[in-house]
Amino acid sequence: MFYHITAIGVYRNLKLILPTFAPYKIIKMRIDIITVLPELLRSPFEASIMKRAIDKGIVEVHIHNLRDYTTNKQKSVDDYPFGGGAGMVMTVQPIDACITHLKSERTYDEIIYMSPDGETLNQKMANTMSMYENIIILCGHYKGVDQRVRDHFITKEISIGDYVLSGGELGALVLSDALIRLIPGVLSDETSALTDSFQDGLLSGPIYTRPADYKGWKVPDVLLSGHFAKIDKWREDTAYEHTKNRRPDLLEES
Ligand code: SAH
Repeated sequence: MFYHITAIGVYRNLKLILPTFAPYKIIKMRIDIITVLPELLRSPFEASIMKRAIDKGIVEVHIHNLRDYTTNKQKSVDDYPFGGGAGMVMTVQPIDACITHLKSERTYDEIIYMSPDGETLNQKMANTMSMYENIIILCGHYKGVDQRVRDHFITKEISIGDYVLSGGELGALVLSDALIRLIPGVLSDETSALTDSFQDGLLSGPIYTRPADYKGWKVPDVLLSGHFAKIDKWREDTAYEHTKNRRPDLLEES
C-alpha cells in the first residue's frame, strides 16, 4: 500500500521500496518566524505535539523579534501609508534586514507571508510543505506589510481562512502545527496522521472508547466484534457517509 505525498508518506514508501536501505534520511524542519509579538508565539510551542517535536530534535523553531532588526532609534517597525488612509503599514527595512540575514545562513524552501488574500491553507498544501527543510514565516500586523516586501522577498502567501485576524501570529501557529504533526517521528503512531480527515479526501467517521455502554448509549456492535475486515469496512462506509452529509464537495474533488 502506498501512502500520500507527505513527509510520513514518502518515508513509509521508502521503507517499502528499499527495505534494506537504512538509516533513512531523517527529516528535520527549521521554522523561522518573524514577528513583532514574540510573546504571542511562545507558549504553543511549549506544549503537546509541537513541544515533543522540538524536544526530539525533529523541529527547530526560531522566533525573531522584528524590532531587533530596526535601524531607527525608536525601534519602530511601521509608518503611515503613502496616499493617506487609516492604519499603519509595516516598513521594508527591518524585514529586509531579518530575511537577508537568515538567507545568508541557509537556503529556504519558501518565505511565507501570512495574509488573508493568500492561498487558503488546506491539507494538501500541508502535506507538500511537511517535506520542506527550512521555511520563514512572516507575520503581518496593522494594515499589513509594504507591498515591496511581498514583491521582493515573499515566495508564498498563505491565508488560514476568509476572515481577518489582527496579526499573522495565530496563522503562523496554525500552519506550524499542521506541518509539524506530519513529520515522521512526531506523532507516536505515524499512521494516525494519515487516517485523519482530508487525507484520502474524506472526513473521519465517528470514534468511540470505553465504556461500551454508557447510560444505555451503546457503541456500534461491529466495533466490539473483533472482526477487523468488517471494522475497516464499517469505518470506510461511515467516513464516506459523513463526508457525503457534511462536505459533498470533497467527494466531487476526488
Ligand atoms: N489589511 C489587510 C489585513 C491586515 S490584518 C487586508 O485587508 O487584507 C494584519 C495581519 O494579520 C496581516 O498582515 C496578516 O499577516 C495577518 N492576517 C490577517 N488575517 C489573516 C488570515 N486570514 N490568514 C493569515 N494571516 C492573516
